Amino acid sequence: KERTLAMVKPDALSRLGDILETIHAANLIVIKAKMTTLTLYGQTESEASDFYMEHQSKPFFSNLVQFMSSGPVVAMELMGDEAIGAWRRLLGPTDSATARQEAQGSVRARFGTDGTQNAGHGSDSVASAAREVEFFFPSTAGH
Ligand code: ATP
Repeated sequence: KERTLAMVKPDALSRLGDILETIHAANLIVIKAKMTTLTLYGQTESEASDFYMEHQSKPFFSNLVQFMSSGPVVAMELMGDEAIGAWRRLLGPTDSATARQEAQGSVRARFGTDGTQNAGHGSDSVASAAREVEFFFPSTAGH
């Protein structure tokens, strides 16, 4: 079984129930979950920018971190067969408009708004899944 980090972004928080239903129907299980509001710049911790570190040079970075800290998110560790790819397929294409054209039943087609406000996040590799799970659910074990 594989694990991945799934996040319901602020624009889709009110659809959490529908998204959980989608996760359940796909035979993935939620093994950890947390609702939190990511902090932004100018604070001791800057969680939104840390989470999307890899995108800091992109033109959309500032919009992205602004959006990601605009309200609560729900982060979940999912487990299942090929969980990483399975969850990304359920999400659909990054841009919600593209998702509505090319992946009609997907989470982003159903609940996303546009290219930035796209309802959900999913880790894209085993390495990023490990990093992102640790981001939201730090292990106290390390010794
Ligand atoms: P995520 O990493 O959130 O699952 P993704 O892997 O589909 O999404 P990335 O390319 O990693 O997409 O981009 C991270 C996030 O940045 C996207 O989910 C979206 O919110 C935002 N984003 C990506 N590309 C654009 C863009 N061209 N314009 C505006 N926002 C974008």
